Amino acid sequence: MSNSTPRIGICGMSIEASTYSPHRSGAESFTVRRGDDLVAYYPFLAPGQPLREAAEWVPLVHARSLPGGAVEPAFYDAIKEEIIARLRAVMADPATALDGLFFDIHGAMNVIGRLDAEGDLATAVRAAVGPDVLISTSMDLHGNVSRPLASAMDLLTCYRMAPHEDAMLTKQRGVYKLLSRLGTPAHPGPGRVHKAWLPVPVLLPGEKTSTRIEPAKSLYGELYWVEAQPGVLDASIWVGYAWGDEPRNMAVIEVEGDDAEACRRYAEMLGRRLWDVRHEFVFVAPTGSLAECVDAALAGGAKRPFFISDSGDNPTAGGTGDVTWSLTRLVADPRLAGAGAPTTLVASIFDAEAVAACQAAGVGAAVDLEAGARIDHVHAGPVRLRGEVARLTEGDETSGPVAVVRVGAAGETGGVYAIITTRRKPYHTLSDFAAAGLDPRRADIVVVKIGYLEPELFDMAADWLLGLTPGGVDQDLVNLSAVAITRPMFPWDDDFAPGLGAEVL
Ligand SMILES: [Zn+2]
Repeated sequence: MSNSTPRIGICGMSIEASTYSPHRSGAESFTVRRGDDLVAYYPFLAPGQPLREAAEWVPLVHARSLPGGAVEPAFYDAIKEEIIARLRAVMADPATALDGLFFDIHGAMNVIGRLDAEGDLATAVRAAVGPDVLISTSMDLHGNVSRPLASAMDLLTCYRMAPHEDAMLTKQRGVYKLLSRLGTPAHPGPGRVHKAWLPVPVLLPGEKTSTRIEPAKSLYGELYWVEAQPGVLDASIWVGYAWGDEPRNMAVIEVEGDDAEACRRYAEMLGRRLWDVRHEFVFVAPTGSLAECVDAALAGGAKRPFFISDSGDNPTAGGTGDVTWSLTRLVADPRLAGAGAPTTLVASIFDAEAVAACQAAGVGAAVDLEAGARIDHVHAGPVRLRGEVARLTEGDETSGPVAVVRVGAAGETGGVYAIITTRRKPYHTLSDFAAAGLDPRRADIVVVKIGYLEPELFDMAADWLLGLTPGGVDQDLVNLSAVAITRPMFPWDDDFAPGLGAEVL
C-alpha cells in the first residue's frame, strides 16, 4: 500500500438462522445498507471520530436481519453477487483499490440447501480482492468459524459478553486491529498474522453460556490475559450456534498474533479449559416447565413483576415468534382469569390479520378471534382469544401496528394481556412494551419470548424463571432432530476424548 490514507471497504451479511424453525428469511427480513447509510451504522465511524479520520471508508453493501429461520438461497445469492461485483469494481482500478476490508458478519447464517454460508461468502470475498488486501472480520460469539472462513480472513474476533453489551465495541476492535496492521514497518504486508484455530466438539445453548455466570465468566475473562501476552494480538472463543444443523456448528477457539507457537499454546490452553468445564454450564436462571413457572409466579410471596422466559420460541435466537404453545396454556389457566386475577403481560405473537381485526373492532370492543401459528404451526395451532381490545398502537418500525387483547369478561381488570404485533418482534426493553401501550414494571407477571433477559428486563425483574418451552430454539438440544452436526459432540456424546490440537493457519 502507499503512504496515503488507507482505503478500507465495508461489507457483510448478518443473521442468526435456526434450521429447526419453519420461518424463512428473505428480502423482507433484511435491512440492506449501502453508501453513507452503511458507514452511519457504526458510531465509531461518525464524523470526527478517530477511526473515521484514520482511513478512507468505502461502504459496499451490508444486509442485516433479526434472527430467524434459514435464508432463502435467491436472496443470499443476490447479496453475495452484489458484494463480489462491488469488490471487483473497486479493485479493478488502482486508484480505488482497497488496502483493507472490514467483513461484518454474525456467523450463524444458514441458507436453505447450502452448507457453511459464511465460509462460502468469505472465500468468494477473498478471491475478489486477492491475497494482498487485509481482511478483518467481527462476529457474534454464537457464530461458527469453519476452517474455510478462518482461512479466508486475516483477522477474526467476536463478542466477549452475552448478553452482547460489547457488540459495537467488538466491531470497533475489528476495525482497530485492521488499521493497526496495515503497512506498519514491522509488518510490511498483509496476511502476516498467524491464526491458531481450534474447534472444540461442544455445542451449548446461549442460555447456558452467559458470561454473567460461571464457567463462561472466567473462561472469557482469560481472553484479556491471553491477548496481552507477547506475540498475541487477539483471542476469541466462539460458543457456536446451537440451533444450526451443520458440521461446522460447534465451539471454536482462535488466538492470533505474530508468534505462531504462542498462539497455538494459548489456543490449546483455552480449548482444554472449555472442554474440562463442559459439564459445568448451567442455565443462566432457575428453569422449569411452563406449569412450574406459573405455579412459582402465583405462589404466596412471589415478587412482582415476576418474569417468565418463553425460551423455545425466542425470536432473537431464531425462533419464529408466533408459536402459541405457551399463550394457549396461559389463557386456559383459570388462576390467570377473572376478577382479581394478576395482570399478566404476554409478549408476543405476530399476526397481521388478527391486528387488523382488533383495529376494526376498536379499543374496548369485545373480540373472539384466533391468532398466531401462521408460520410455526408445528408446535401448536392458533390460539383462541376471547376478551376485549385493550390497546391499539402504531407499534414501532419492527413490530408495525400492535393490538393488545385482554382475555376475559368486559370491565374486569387483570388477566392475560396478549400482545399481537403485525410483524415479528422481540420484546427486550421498556420502550418495546411502551410501544404496545404497556408498562411491565406495573404488571404482576411478564411472559416474554426470550432466553436470558436482556439488561433492561433483567434489572426490572423482581424474580425470573427460564421456561423450558417448545419451539424452533428448544433449549433441550438433545431433543432436536440434529442429523448433520459433527459427531461425537457434547452433549449428544460424552464418552470420547477429543484431540484438542490447534492448527496454525
Ligand atoms: Zn449472539
